[in-house]
Amino acid sequence: MTEALWAPWRLEYVQGGADAEGCIFCAAGADEGYDLVVRRGERAYVVMNLYPYSNGHLMVAPYRHLAGPGDLDEAERAEMWRLLDESVRALTEAMSPHGFNAGINIGRVAGAGVEGHIHLHVVPRWNGDTNFMPVLADVKVMPEHITRTAEKLRAAWPA
Ligand SMILES: [Zn+2]
Repeated sequence: MTEALWAPWRLEYVQGGADAEGCIFCAAGADEGYDLVVRRGERAYVVMNLYPYSNGHLMVAPYRHLAGPGDLDEAERAEMWRLLDESVRALTEAMSPHGFNAGINIGRVAGAGVEGHIHLHVVPRWNGDTNFMPVLADVKVMPEHITRTAEKLRAAWPA
């Protein structure tokens, strides 16, 4: 239970992805028409997590297949940070959460489902959501529902 508080995103929608081939983040970044991508920057993008810890669970990832924070260049770091800020603002506008968890799992022991491609989780939180957290972590939200949330967030994205 406590573990879930710190690594709520351990259940990623696909396991593996050790190399760029078959990596879900490389694939999502390259697919211009992928409807779960809510924002595309020059060097990084924002995508919905198909196995969300809470409604509106986003992930910010660079386009390049990079494993750790030290592999990012300055421009990627800057853009990921900007996209984190924009994600918080869009989620606030669209869903009025009471708070957020934002973090990166490095290594499988820390809960990383996809180890080879760094991604920053942005998880909106609401007062009282802790009690059903462990249940949500195992529930696959219907893709249609996530697609609707993605549309809502695109519309709420700061200009
Ligand atoms: Zn990748």
